[in-house]
Amino acid sequence: MDEMKRGFILILTAPSGGGKGVLSRHLVEKMDGIRFSVSTTTRMMRPGEVDGVHYFFVGKDEFEKKIREEAFVEWAAVFGHFYGTSRQMLTENLQAGQDVILDIDWQGARQIRGQMPGDVVHVAIVPPSRDELRRRLVLRGQDAQEVIERRMALAEKELSHWHEADYVLVNDRLEQAYGDIEAIVRAERLRRGRMAGRVEKIVAGFGGNDGLYQDGSG
Ligand code: 5GP
Repeated sequence: MDEMKRGFILILTAPSGGGKGVLSRHLVEKMDGIRFSVSTTTRMMRPGEVDGVHYFFVGKDEFEKKIREEAFVEWAAVFGHFYGTSRQMLTENLQAGQDVILDIDWQGARQIRGQMPGDVVHVAIVPPSRDELRRRLVLRGQDAQEVIERRMALAEKELSHWHEADYVLVNDRLEQAYGDIEAIVRAERLRRGRMAGRVEKIVAGFGGNDGLYQDGSG
């Protein structure tokens, strides 16, 4: 935890099967100071899920109340259920110097960037080809054929927004992609604005450089 440094919001967008899950898990396991955001949802809890860990599970009335209270920085209806990102959770993490990973689509990414422009780092993950994405979805063995076709159709829509991202990562070889996503996080942590708290203190420790640059060149 680094209270001298503000964290950032890492938004990874990708079509289903694009590698968003594996890349974000890699970051959380490999790097300190980065964690998943826990969204609020109205959908039913699935076996193995834990309230407060995978999601905060709430009823529709409670979700609507939170919308009215502006408790979400963004929210959306996905497959007939509501999903939202808590403003308070995000703000507290960023202030504590934690980077936060959000698993949301391009529409959510847009909404958050609109509200917290300086805090968002958006990475679009692009599969190497259409055939390869289909191969990965089939290999995953999670979906029936018709669900795969639906995901492929949605993939086209998601990918059409790649140019809204700050970084684009073509997820061809996984080892390379791990290195690339780590590099993005490392570089973003060194941005001047995020380093300002720490550096200003260091520079203040040097005091004024009175008289050193009398020609004004300093
Ligand atoms: P699932 O129900 O399978 O966990 O998630 C379904 C979809 O909801 C995923 O595509 C996920 O990215 C999206 N989702 C999860 N949490 C949020 C959220 O807080 N906001 C938005 N906009 N989408 C979310």
